[in-house]
Amino acid sequence: MSNSTQNSPSDTAHYDVAVVGGGAAGLSAAVTLGRSLRSVVVIDSAQQRNLPADSAHNLLGREGIAPSDLVAAGRSEAASYGAVLLDDEVTDAHRADGGFALQLASGARVQARRILLATGLVDELPEIEGLAQGWGSTVLHCPYCHGWEVRGQRIGVIATGPMAEHQALLFGRLTDAVTVFDHSAILDDAARARLYAMGVAVVSGTVAQVDVEGDRVRAVLVDDSRYEVDAVVVGTAMHARADVYRLLGGEVTPHPMGSFIDADQMGRTAVDGVWAAGNVRDLSAMVGMSAGMGVFAGAGLNADLVADEVAAAMSVRS
Ligand SMILES: Cc1cc2nc3c(=O)[nH]c(=O)nc-3n(C[C@H](O)[C@H](O)[C@H](O)COP(=O)(O)OP(=O)(O)OC[C@H]3O[C@@H](n4cnc5c(N)ncnc54)[C@H](O)[C@@H]3O)c2cc1C
Repeated sequence: MSNSTQNSPSDTAHYDVAVVGGGAAGLSAAVTLGRSLRSVVVIDSAQQRNLPADSAHNLLGREGIAPSDLVAAGRSEAASYGAVLLDDEVTDAHRADGGFALQLASGARVQARRILLATGLVDELPEIEGLAQGWGSTVLHCPYCHGWEVRGQRIGVIATGPMAEHQALLFGRLTDAVTVFDHSAILDDAARARLYAMGVAVVSGTVAQVDVEGDRVRAVLVDDSRYEVDAVVVGTAMHARADVYRLLGGEVTPHPMGSFIDADQMGRTAVDGVWAAGNVRDLSAMVGMSAGMGVFAGAGLNADLVADEVAAAMSVRS
């Protein structure tokens, strides 16, 4: 990633808000805060979740944009309002001087009155050999992100969790050739009947590996039977990247599909002064919604800081 918009921090730089994570959520918050003349630093370790994909969809005005181009545009927009962008990673965090002190992997230190966690989530793929190789291209998870691109093609859904039937039915909107591999034997008779009624084939058996060859995929079962498809669909376990939150005393909330940081509508968490936006607080958020949460958090943080400033001004007058 280009450092062209990166500014250097002094030994310990002070900001109104330190945004940890520079994806859709963090960069949107930085724009909102910058437009209210807040001093903002965005610290980002460049692992935006959708980088393995060629393009981002369901994004009004930016439909089909390459994820790296979207990040570059967002960085440029945030920098245009004065946000400082650091290509770095927050490795330690604690309370200091009424706010927070962050230690970065490079050795730099940052202090801020508030923290916004926009650190996204980690997708844990099922433990099946070969899946990682095609992730984001021929190994898919989301019908809204990738479904239209594989319409009319052969889709194999590997059932490893509670979303498998849902995924099969949604991808079934887009093609008549969906096969579910009941890998973890999770489909009961009622689920099988629903899939059958919608024309979805179900194969019982454990998938031993997935061979990705160019734009084709082969699912190989433990009995060595082989199924050629154009894409496979899996569910991932989705875990909020919450290391910094834990360092500040926060706890993640368990979810049937992983874990997230609980927050109110604006993004305020249970840890005073710490806010959250994007996938880290909503596992289902796509790019547009993550950006929207960033705007809300930016607005909430600005109002919260104004409230502090009002209290300080009142105490001086009294
Ligand atoms: C393969 C795939 C394809 C997708 N396609 C689409 C699509 O077409 N359309 C769509 O709307 N959505 C899509 N999504 C979902 C989309 O990726 C997310 O909605 C979006 O990335 C969430 O934005 P975010 O800002 O919350 O997190 P992210 O974009 O994941 O950004 C989080 C950032 O925080 C950084 N970070 C984490 N911890 C630290 C730390 N300690 N210090 C510094 N930086 C840190 C990470 O490096 C990362 O850059 C897709 C997801 C996947 C997996």
